Amino acid sequence: MMKYRYSSFVGFALGQNTGSARHRKRLGFGLVGCLLLLVCSEGIGLENENPDYAAARARMVKQQLDGTRDAIKHPGVLKAMASVPRHEFVPEELREVAYADGPLPIGYGQTISQPYVVAFMTEKLDPKPTDKVLEIGTGSGYQAAILSGLVSEVYSMEIVEELAERAQIDLARLGYRNVKVRHGDGYRGWREAAPFDAVIVTCAPDRVPQPLVDQLKDGGRMVIPVGGSLVQTLYLLRKHGAQLEQEAILPVRFVPMTGEIRNTTP
Ligand code: SAH
Repeated sequence: MMKYRYSSFVGFALGQNTGSARHRKRLGFGLVGCLLLLVCSEGIGLENENPDYAAARARMVKQQLDGTRDAIKHPGVLKAMASVPRHEFVPEELREVAYADGPLPIGYGQTISQPYVVAFMTEKLDPKPTDKVLEIGTGSGYQAAILSGLVSEVYSMEIVEELAERAQIDLARLGYRNVKVRHGDGYRGWREAAPFDAVIVTCAPDRVPQPLVDQLKDGGRMVIPVGGSLVQTLYLLRKHGAQLEQEAILPVRFVPMTGEIRNTTP
């Protein structure tokens, strides 16, 4: 039976420095160890991370993603989930629960998705190191941060200006340099940066926006929840020339896509 997955639950990660202990013996702690730690944590702002968050993140991966019946198998996705400091993307008063198994509010009536949903959608997108990916619905910037280490470039659009600004600041602060955030309605996509190898939509329209299909490369993939305001179906779409192959993969609940899609008819 299909399980409902709610886009706004919470999740944890392995420390960035797990490899360093082995090196210490051989290389004699000191400078090399320090350099390793620095290199490993550079760019993601984890050098002063509270160990409780790292432990919580590791538990999240183990209990919610790796050890479940519908386990996430993609090693890169698991690594990203184990590395990205989710607590940095939630409001300060919710940091303690940032790695729980559920969505969390991020302000403006919006949510950061459940860790499993983020990992699942990323896995389904089949990210490749050379990919250019478009995300619609930046929200906190967490999903974009997860994609950042898996692909070449991430373009992310957010309709709520304050969220777009905050995500841009957080992503820059944490060193995710290959993510570009733009404030605007994602319905029409990001024409100047198109075509994309993959598109991920993290808000729910009642139909697939045609401009997003147009901006996909031939052979490109799109992961998108489509449906009404209460529950939607997550689809994996594959573009083959003029054909769009559709696979319904999971019932989900996302916040609705707002903006132009609501004022237009199919
Ligand atoms: N991916 C986000 C969570 C997204 S919540 C994260 O990792 O935190 C869905 C987001 O989609 C909300 O922030 C909402 O404001 C945004 N959104 C809704 N309609 C949109 C549209 N037409 N264009 C761009 N963003 C939209």
